Amino acid sequence: MSDEVNPFESLQSQIDDAAAYLDVGDDVIERLKHPERVLETNLTIERDDGDLERFTAFRSQFNGDRGPYKGGIRYHPQVSRDEVKALSGWMTYKTAIVDIPLGGGKGGIVVDPDDYSEAELEQLTRSFAKELRPLIGEDRDVPAPDVNTGQREMNWIKDTYETIENTTEPGVITGKALDSGGSEGRVEATGRSTVIAAREAFDYLDKDLEGATVAVQGYGNAGWIAAKLIDEMGATVVAASDSSGGIYNADGFDPVAAKEHKNETGSVVGFEDSEAALTNDDVLTLDVDLLIPAALENAIDADLAEAVDADVISEAANGPLTPAADEVLEGKDVFVIPDILANAGGVTVSYFEWVQNRQRFYWAEERVNEELETIIVDAFDALVETYERHDLENPRTAAYVVAIQRVADAFEEAGSWP
Ligand code: GLU
Repeated sequence: MSDEVNPFESLQSQIDDAAAYLDVGDDVIERLKHPERVLETNLTIERDDGDLERFTAFRSQFNGDRGPYKGGIRYHPQVSRDEVKALSGWMTYKTAIVDIPLGGGKGGIVVDPDDYSEAELEQLTRSFAKELRPLIGEDRDVPAPDVNTGQREMNWIKDTYETIENTTEPGVITGKALDSGGSEGRVEATGRSTVIAAREAFDYLDKDLEGATVAVQGYGNAGWIAAKLIDEMGATVVAASDSSGGIYNADGFDPVAAKEHKNETGSVVGFEDSEAALTNDDVLTLDVDLLIPAALENAIDADLAEAVDADVISEAANGPLTPAADEVLEGKDVFVIPDILANAGGVTVSYFEWVQNRQRFYWAEERVNEELETIIVDAFDALVETYERHDLENPRTAAYVVAIQRVADAFEEAGSWP
């Protein structure tokens, strides 16, 4: 992984690449390259041993022209102001490419959750929710899960907000557990859109998904679900990895059994059906039909991109390729389905959750999955239409052209407010 590349600069360079094809003034583009505001806050909790500890946390509200700010909250030692700003920008263009009426935001706490007890994490989460309270709300800013957060944290945030506000407002946050107002299909949604987008890309490229070989880097919620669903579609998952290392079997393995192994031991490493131990970089450079990077940003830099040997990449993670890696892969004719479309299933089903919360009427999983399918297929078609119309070399640029135009139109239609 390259630590050199600042993800906020990557976001801005992706916007610049698209700007050349847009009917949008430079002054508007400049506005769309920066967040509207960023909260930086210090949270202090009492550890189980009685000592106090301070943490830095952020919430970036990038753009609200199309609706309430929307995006996850991550807990990770590498969280930084620029990372959160970048991720909030990616959310803005993600909600725009899938055309749901939401803006973009993102938050994070600089913390390694493995080092803390559940009681400490609850205090930390509730303390962040208290700081966020004036900024969030179902019509203002709607957080969600991201790296190392899930239903548990979302339930705590909802409860803290509702307690302080003396109300019930489940739509203040998404990714909740079902009994706390969550949606069917939300947990699987990111992995599901990653494979729907891959299926559409294979179809577009006239490639057969049946029997296609797949490598998955990162075996968290997005990665392992993508592995399971692509296996169900008839592809063969031959490799997977997590932060401890990777596994490989040329004939394919059962992604569910690999996940069970990870649940028991903490890692996919040591899985009985693996023929060879691989590193993360080995998994990213295997000769496969489809590569799914599903871990963190900057997983593939320009050097590693030279060694990538996949035909199609579907980005389950946010920002897994550096702009320099993108350029190398473009030269090698690798079809990259950009993160803002490939992993947009998460925020799309968050949108469904928010709609259900507001209506207090809940859908069956079948309806959630059908509506998700329609949205991802429509977004892929819009990408391809722009990709062909401008004769673009990179599908990412096509996605940004579509998405930026939608945000810029909403901004210009509203007029300016000094
Ligand atoms: N954290 C997810 C993402 O990066 C989901 C965001 C959401 O559901 O609001 O897209």
